[in-house]
Order: sequence, then structure tokens, then C-alpha cells
Amino acid sequence: MIPSVMPTYNRAPIAFTKGEGAWLTAEDGTRYLDLGAGIAVNSLGHANPALVQALTDQAKELWHVSNLYDIPNQQALADALVEHTFADTVFFTNSGTEACELAVKMARKHFHDKGEPDRTDIITFAGAFHGRSSAGIAAAASPKLTEGFGPLLPGFVNLPWGDHEALEAAVGDTVAAILVEPVQGEGGIVPLPDQCLKGLRALCDDHGILLILDEVQCGMGRTGRLFAHEWAGIAPDIMMVAKGIGGGFPIGALLATEAAASGMTAGTHGSTYGGNPLACAVGLAVMNIVSEPAFLEEVNRKAGLLRQRLEGLVAAHPDVFSHVRGSGLMLGIVCKAANADVINACYGAHVLVVPAAGNTLRIMPSLTISDDEISQAIERLDQAAGEVTANAAN
Ligand SMILES: *Cc1c(COP(=O)(O)O)cnc(C)c1O
Repeated sequence: MIPSVMPTYNRAPIAFTKGEGAWLTAEDGTRYLDLGAGIAVNSLGHANPALVQALTDQAKELWHVSNLYDIPNQQALADALVEHTFADTVFFTNSGTEACELAVKMARKHFHDKGEPDRTDIITFAGAFHGRSSAGIAAAASPKLTEGFGPLLPGFVNLPWGDHEALEAAVGDTVAAILVEPVQGEGGIVPLPDQCLKGLRALCDDHGILLILDEVQCGMGRTGRLFAHEWAGIAPDIMMVAKGIGGGFPIGALLATEAAASGMTAGTHGSTYGGNPLACAVGLAVMNIVSEPAFLEEVNRKAGLLRQRLEGLVAAHPDVFSHVRGSGLMLGIVCKAANADVINACYGAHVLVVPAAGNTLRIMPSLTISDDEISQAIERLDQAAGEVTANAAN
């Protein structure tokens, strides 16, 4: 019999009832150190007092009004995002995949309105993840996501990662945009080198096409800059944001330049919940904290510490781990042992990590994790790795 909750997830048999900072408490009272943060969502830790305050203050006043009316904290959050990024304008969604939908629509509309209606193709890359909507799975083009789901949304050209010749050859008259994650998340924490991101920007400029960055996972301070592309010193035309911006409350956003968004006039797009007062109250509280230079400096300091400690951990367990990669507090450990076995051993050591493609473990704690918690994380990961080795010997 099918479970009442549709069985589309592989779940661990643990239910958490309370969270505080970097910690989660299970039903049986066991405390787990959370290095997954809801897959880079709980950017400021669980039950962050500033976010609890923002949400409860708003909840007492007004939960929802339609986008038929002005929403002051939606305006304030848009202003904050515009102030701190390349963007001139913002559309709010409830998720990353909805931001992807709009990115695709916007790029096509931009060229339609410019009198180039044949420019509808979007170039994407192997290993990408852009969400589970029809556009998102067509963009990522991985059989794991698309198989069985019928005709794919046309207009995506998926290229191998890092094949410059294939890319040059693919940028023809029907291409509207290049869509890429500055650091692939689901794909296994694979950073795009700054030089390549600069190259993509130059290629888009040369051909008059749009650069769309998916910063759903790597944005909002995760890599030590407010957005990951800032490391390369370039700016996109369109950018998808979600996950960390809500700190656990569902909200996403699509940021764009005035030129890229020129076709998005009244009636061209909409969302019932997008930019809802509760979501924007929390998003604004997150932005106010994460956009502070001192906060980001601290993220970079802790990222250096965590990376150094992870390199030591990997060196101590050469049979279990291969190497560390990533950026800021978005780190991946490529495993030699099966990553699923390491993750199971981590449950035993009461530390939570998240799998990714390429036999990788994702280490993405809340950006507020303390030095002491980083030390505890390494101790627990060390214990788990020892367990994996012991099991292999038996
Ligand atoms: C999670 C993710 C998405 C999809 O976001 P949802 O909120 O799950 O719809 C899209 N792109 C990237 C890079 C992601 O990590």
C-alpha cells in the first residue's frame, strides 16, 4: 500500500522536533550536529532569534495579501537586494524551481520583444541542478530527473562541463542565454573556476546573449561573499536565489537587470504566494544580517578553519575519503568508501551530512556555526570514518 506521504524521498528514520543554532534534537532526545542545514537553507541556524522575532512580529499583524496591493516589506526586501547586488529589479517566488521558470521565460521574452523571437535556446551544463519543474528538469537534462516524464520542454542545449570548444560551437543564432551554477551543489560541490565564469560572461557579451546564474544553493553568503559570482568580479544579467534567503521560511527570488527584465510588464508573470508578507519579513531579516561585511568576513574565517580541519580529517582517513573541494562554507568531501555508508556512520556519530553526486558528502553548516562546533564536527566525522574503516575490515 502506498504510504500516505507520497514516497518520493529516501528518508532516514529520524524525526527532529527541535532545532537551535547548529543543533537538531530528535524525538528520542538525541542531539545531532547539523552540517546540512536543510540543504543550505538554515543559513542562520535553527530558531535564530532575529528570524523568530521577524516572523512572529509579522504574524501578529498580517499574514497574506494578494499582489493586487502594495506589500511594504516585499518592497523593502527588493530594495535591499537591489542595493547589494547587480540587479535593478526582483520578482519573488516560493522556491528555487519557480525562480528557474521565470529565468527561462524572462530570457525568451527579452529576445521576443527585441525582435529576435527565434532566440529561445538556453545552454546548460552536465551535472547541473535547477529544480524539479518541467523547465528545471529539461535544463539539467539528466536521465535521473527526466526519465518517464514524457516530452521535455524544448529549448535546452546541455553541454559537457568544461568543454570550451563545444560551448563556442553551441552559441548560435537560436541561443538566448547560458544558465550555470557558480558552484554546482547537487552535482557534487563543483566550483566553476573564476576564469571560466569570466569567460562565460565575455562569451555572452560577444554574442549579445544573457548570462543566468543559479545561486539558489551557493548564494546568500554561503561562499563567503553575498553571492558566489562576486569572487570572479563579474555580474550576471539574471540570477536565481532561494534556499538560504529564507533561512527556513519558503521564499525564492529572481533578480535581473533592467535590460534583461524589459519584457516583464504587468500581466506577464505572477504568483499567489510569491513575496508574501511573512516570507519577506524573514527574508529581510536574513538579508540585514548576511549582507553585513563583518558577517561575511566571519564566514570566510570559519570557512578557512573548517576547510583546514577537513583536509586533516581526509588525510587521516585515506581509505574513506579522497579530497575536499568547494568554496566558503559550501564544501564537499569526495569519498572513496560509498558516501551512503559514510552518511550512515555519521548518523551513529550524531552528525548530519548530505549526499551529492560524484560520491560526495556535502558539508554546509549554518553560517553561524562556532569554532567549537567546527571542532565537534571534525571529532564526530572522525569517529564516523573510523566506523566505516572498522566495518570494511569485518
Ligand atoms: C535546490 C536548488 C534548486 C531548486 O530549488 P527548490 O526550492 O527546491 O525548488 C535549483 N537550483 C539549485 C542550484 C538548487 O540547489
